[in-house]
Amino acid sequence: MRFSDFDQRLAALDALPVHRGRLMRVWLNGKALDLGTRRRSSENFLPLKLRAAVPALTSELDGLARVCSEHVGSDGSRLLVELADGQMVESVLLPRDGLCVSTQVGCAVGCRFCMTGKSGLLRQVTSMEILAQVVLARRLRTVKKVVFMGMGEPAHNLDNVLEAIDLLGTEGNIGHKNLVFSTVGDMRVFDVLPRQRVKPALALSLHTTKAELRRHLLPRAPRISPEALVELGEKYARDTHYPIQYQWTLLKGINDGDDELDALVRLLKGKYGVLNVIPFNVAEGDDYQRPDSDRIHEIVRSLRSRGVLTKVRNSAGQDVEAGCGQLRARAVGAEHVVRLHRKHGDRRPPPDRPDEAFTASGSS
Ligand code: SF4
Repeated sequence: MRFSDFDQRLAALDALPVHRGRLMRVWLNGKALDLGTRRRSSENFLPLKLRAAVPALTSELDGLARVCSEHVGSDGSRLLVELADGQMVESVLLPRDGLCVSTQVGCAVGCRFCMTGKSGLLRQVTSMEILAQVVLARRLRTVKKVVFMGMGEPAHNLDNVLEAIDLLGTEGNIGHKNLVFSTVGDMRVFDVLPRQRVKPALALSLHTTKAELRRHLLPRAPRISPEALVELGEKYARDTHYPIQYQWTLLKGINDGDDELDALVRLLKGKYGVLNVIPFNVAEGDDYQRPDSDRIHEIVRSLRSRGVLTKVRNSAGQDVEAGCGQLRARAVGAEHVVRLHRKHGDRRPPPDRPDEAFTASGSS
C-alpha cells in the first residue's frame, strides 16, 4: 500500500487534511488511531464516517508488518519483519535512538560482499511498509533517526522512499538531517533530492577508490567513477549543509591497502563529509575476511592524521551473527542460493588479484 492511496481513502471517509495529518501522526508514534488530543476526545474531533472506519483501518495498518523475531546484540537489535504477503525484511535498532529500515525485498545491485544482493530483487517495499517498520520500532523504543541503509537500494524504489521520507520529516517528527538516504550512486538521486521539501542527509557507498574494483564489487551500480561520485556528493553537502557519509566496507586484502589510503586522502581531504569504515561482518562460509583490529586502528589513525574525518561503524548486531540480509537468508534458506552461485564458477580471489574477487556475505 502506497501512502498516497491510503491518504485518498481517508479523504473518501470525509477526513480533511487536518484529520489525515492527525491520524498519520498518532500511527507513526505507535499510538491508537482514535487517540484524542490533550483537550478533545476523538468523538469531538474526527468525522463520524472516519471514526466508524477506525477499527478496519487499524487492523489493515497492523497487518502491514509484524516482528517475526528480535535478535538482541550488544550494540543494537535486529528485527526480522514479516510483510503481509509473507516476504521478510530486516530493520535494525541502532544505538542513540536510530533505526535502519529496508526499502526492497532483496536488491538488484548484487554487491559481492552482501547477502541481500545474492537473492536479486524480489519486490519493492511500499511507502506504508517502510513507515510500518518505524511504527514497529517505536512500539519497542524511541526512534529519532531513520537511515535507509537496510535491504535494498533506495534509489531503485525512489517514489516509495521519498514518500516515506516526506512523512517521517513532517508528521513523523524526525529532523530532516536525521533521515539518511543511502545510495550506490544512482544519478536520479542528485537531481530529485535537492527538490524535496524534506531533504535527507546522504550516504554514498564508495568502498574503493579504484573504478575497476568498484565495478567488480558493486556489479550493477551505475558506472560512475569514485571521483565523480564524490564531486556530486560534495555539491549536495554544500547545498544542504549536511555532511556526506561515505561508506567503506573494509575487506581484508581487497580495499585495506596503503594505496587505497593514499587515494582516499587525495579524494576526501577537505571535503564536507565523513568516512564510515565498516569492517566486514564475517559469516560462516564467507570468502571475504575482516582485517584484524590492529590494521583497522592503523587505517583510522592514518586517515585521521592526514585530514580525513574517519569513524569505525560496526554492523550492529554482529554478535548475533546477523549482518544485513543474513537473518532473512536464514529464515528463507537463502544459503542454498549462495551454494548455487559458488557451484557456477565463483572463485575465491588470490589476495594480490582483488579484481577477481567474487561472492561473500554480509553488507554495509
Ligand atoms: S550492499 Fe546495499 S546496494 Fe549492495 S547488494 Fe546489499 S543491499 Fe544492495
